Amino acid sequence: MTNKKGLLIVLSGPSGCGKGTMVKELLKRGDCAVSVSATTRSPRVGEENDVDYHFLTEDQFSKLIEEDAFLEHAGYVGHRYGTLKKEVETLRSEGKHVILEIEVQGAFQIREKCPEAVLIFTVPPTIDELRRRLHKRGTESDEVIEERISRAKAELPLARKYDYIILNDALEDAVADFGNVLRAEQLRPEFLEDKIGEMEQC
Ligand code: 5GP
Repeated sequence: MTNKKGLLIVLSGPSGCGKGTMVKELLKRGDCAVSVSATTRSPRVGEENDVDYHFLTEDQFSKLIEEDAFLEHAGYVGHRYGTLKKEVETLRSEGKHVILEIEVQGAFQIREKCPEAVLIFTVPPTIDELRRRLHKRGTESDEVIEERISRAKAELPLARKYDYIILNDALEDAVADFGNVLRAEQLRPEFLEDKIGEMEQC
């Protein structure tokens, strides 16, 4: 028997580098779930409340901070984002590997609070390609796109502090790399503690 709790996986990387598309593919595996974050930003066209995010007002977000409801929270280009403790715990206790698609400040808060978390940073092939993808998405103004590019460049050195870096060029390769990381993490002694303990009893 393996450890029943699923892995906690942090997935960071520049906004627009294809994390969302990658996560959609990963959910098809059946053993992964994504934690729905709270945010104060407005929904984009096609985004649904409680599916893509829990869209909250500033007051609602502040109240949740007071109630200590967040595992982590951070500001990103003028808005606040946070991971709800309840959401993560429910999914992990169901045995799912929980993916947190979050930015770097939040990722390091998670590492502090949950040292067992696996931190993965995704990078686009080039900054020009990132800009092209953000324009193609067409959900932000040119000004916001440039703000997001600046933020991406500033955060790039932090990729070195993650456990793994996945190059998101061809989607199927990035998804396969993610699967390999997941498999390797499941072969760690901590994950197989129950199994070893059981055999020691015999
Ligand atoms: P977007 O507005 O493009 O959906 O997200 C902007 C950035 O916020 C992305 O890098 C995304 O990964 C990050 N983000 C989304 N949810 C959370 C969260 O709960 N916590 C933190 N720290 N970052 C988040």
